[in-house]
Amino acid sequence: MRKRHLKLIIILIFSLTQLTFAGSKSSTKELKNELLGRVDEKSQLLVEVSDALWEYAEIALLEYKSSKLLVGVLEKEGFDVEREVAGMPTAFVASYGSGKPIIGILAEYDALPGLSQDNTAFKKARIEGGAGHGCGHNLFGAGSLGAALALKEVIEAHKIPGTIKLYGCPAEEDIGGKLYMARDGLFDDLDACIAWHPSYETSVDVRGSQAIDDLEIEFSGKTSHAAFDPWKGASALDAVEMTTFGINLLREHVKPTVRIHYVITQGGKVPNIVPEHAKLWLWARDSTRQGVKDVVKRVEEIVKGAAIATGTSSKINYKGSYHEMLVNLTGSKVMQKNLEMIGSTTYMDEEVAFAKRIQKETNIEQKGMICEINELEDHTKDPEGGSTDVAEVSWVTPTLHLSTSCAPYGIPWHSWAVVSSSKHSLGYKGMFLAAKVMATTALDLFLNKEVLIKMKKEFKDKLKGYTYKSGIPPGQKPPLRVKNNP
Ligand SMILES: [Zn+2]
Repeated sequence: MRKRHLKLIIILIFSLTQLTFAGSKSSTKELKNELLGRVDEKSQLLVEVSDALWEYAEIALLEYKSSKLLVGVLEKEGFDVEREVAGMPTAFVASYGSGKPIIGILAEYDALPGLSQDNTAFKKARIEGGAGHGCGHNLFGAGSLGAALALKEVIEAHKIPGTIKLYGCPAEEDIGGKLYMARDGLFDDLDACIAWHPSYETSVDVRGSQAIDDLEIEFSGKTSHAAFDPWKGASALDAVEMTTFGINLLREHVKPTVRIHYVITQGGKVPNIVPEHAKLWLWARDSTRQGVKDVVKRVEEIVKGAAIATGTSSKINYKGSYHEMLVNLTGSKVMQKNLEMIGSTTYMDEEVAFAKRIQKETNIEQKGMICEINELEDHTKDPEGGSTDVAEVSWVTPTLHLSTSCAPYGIPWHSWAVVSSSKHSLGYKGMFLAAKVMATTALDLFLNKEVLIKMKKEFKDKLKGYTYKSGIPPGQKPPLRVKNNP
């Protein structure tokens, strides 16, 4: 009897679960409408969070107030938060729900040094020499938060099985916080991941991003008096100069997709001392990791040659290494459908006027805002210039990426103009759209197992047997900054 009762209870529970889940599945459209409404309800909160992040304007690995704010909201809403992950005090993972699928959403919130700016349509520093959100990461952080909160409410209300994980990812602009998070396996249990970024266009991103290696090249020589006994010296600066000369000759013999850029971070103290130490900070990029490896091999030879020619010694510190983005077309099509379902943003006359004034101030054609949704591009094209640490995640789990229009068309990125737009309704509108597209896409992944299976198949096929290997050596710790002393 006992056994029969138990069996009946199990069957009943199973049937109820299936009914609830089937009920949710049969009303995906209603659930999506509910999600959109829930994002709208949170618009005030999202603007407040975004503005607070904008005002904190904390640079890489100093995002203490920013991460605290986001964690506070998430905990209040019932998320379990794991703090200080991957050795970074400002990184966190917030989870809600249980079981599979596990869908990740990425949030960023670091600002850029020296870009302090008020939310005016002309250049005006808020704090002279201070930092500013010249990449719109305040919108990024708040928009991703909005998607996670709305999703949480819907999966809770409708008992949809699965887990949401919001990743608080610091230092995108500097060391690439996700490199450490990926190396430490924080994305390993995900079934898929979703991210976005502010832009001046709206599209589901299928063109990918460039792979990059980040190197610090160091030469050591011998000091001497530059006039009295220069023949006794060996100049580390000469070695740096020979290296840059060699690199600039190399440019003629690399593929058009390659980008090499550098700064000299140490070149000696005064002219009358032959420099004993000199340093070059160099980034090499290409559309694939292999392409970057080939370029870096040539750079290593140039460095060796420069050291021999100048009688100095050389050392290369490999600071970081990003993959190119592994695009998932299957999931991107799902995201595109949601983007088109939600529709493009409209702007009021004063918003367009604000956008045009910024374009005038930055010598850009005064097109205002571009609100059309781009079609899914031909993903076989080479990526545009630029790299992102989101790409690391894309080699661990199928990753989808969205850009929404948050700033006037064509303005220079990483500039005062982006800071201005990021505390303005131009930015907020793009943030709301991103939150809605991410939330509805995540919902599709929660409800439609077929899509996830297809996404995973595409992911596996594209990996071609490769297992993700981080460019960060095991055991290397993130180069933390001392608070208030960047
Ligand atoms: Zn950015």
